Amino acid sequence: MTSLRTRERLVQRLREEGIEDLRVLNAVRATPRHIFVDEALASRAYEDTALPIGHGQTISQPYIVARMTELLMQGEALDTVLEVGTGSGYQTALLARLVKRVYSVERIAALQKQARRRFQELGLRNIRLRHSDGGMGLPEYGPFDGILVTAAPEGIPLTLVEQLKPGGRLLLPIGPRKEQVLVRVTRTAGGYEKEFLERVVFVPLLGGLV
Ligand code: SAH
Repeated sequence: MTSLRTRERLVQRLREEGIEDLRVLNAVRATPRHIFVDEALASRAYEDTALPIGHGQTISQPYIVARMTELLMQGEALDTVLEVGTGSGYQTALLARLVKRVYSVERIAALQKQARRRFQELGLRNIRLRHSDGGMGLPEYGPFDGILVTAAPEGIPLTLVEQLKPGGRLLLPIGPRKEQVLVRVTRTAGGYEKEFLERVVFVPLLGGLV
């Protein structure tokens, strides 16, 4: 149920849904998703669906994780990426296979702790985790080539845009519950450009640490 063959079926499904970047598909193939969910849900880990991870949060649907990664990777190569919302750590693990260094922040300490254990188990060493409010970004480690937000604020946080290098991309869902849209913000010499991509459903970006 959690074999390489099962993972291969997921990769095939993502291709059918339009994921084209082979680097992303290879990262999905190389990353066991069942490690990122509760044992009781392991048999559903390779379905293309979001699953609960406790604390009212979810591990995002594989299609969305792959699509966001693909959209972030388009353009110049990324060395450093900041992820806001570590959650299960699955998206973080995919990014860690694709870029030099990943910084990931999470507001729920218990989720961060579990994610840290999973990265150790998988031998992923280029990930730095922080228990902090991702709406602030991580200025002491920025600016970043890419920022990926996996919870939805109402609008584009300028604090995050300011932590992008020129040419850097910020990918995030914005909007109220059930009416969110995926946006890619590219920092330019004079300011930034926005592209509105597709409709998505994410948990909200919240303030405060727990
Ligand atoms: N990438 C994760 C998505 C988890 S859901 C995965 O696929 O597993 C979004 C996560 O964002 C949750 O874990 C939630 O606690 C976290 N989050 C919400 N608001 C946040 C904030 N302001 N700072 C940091 N993390 C936040």
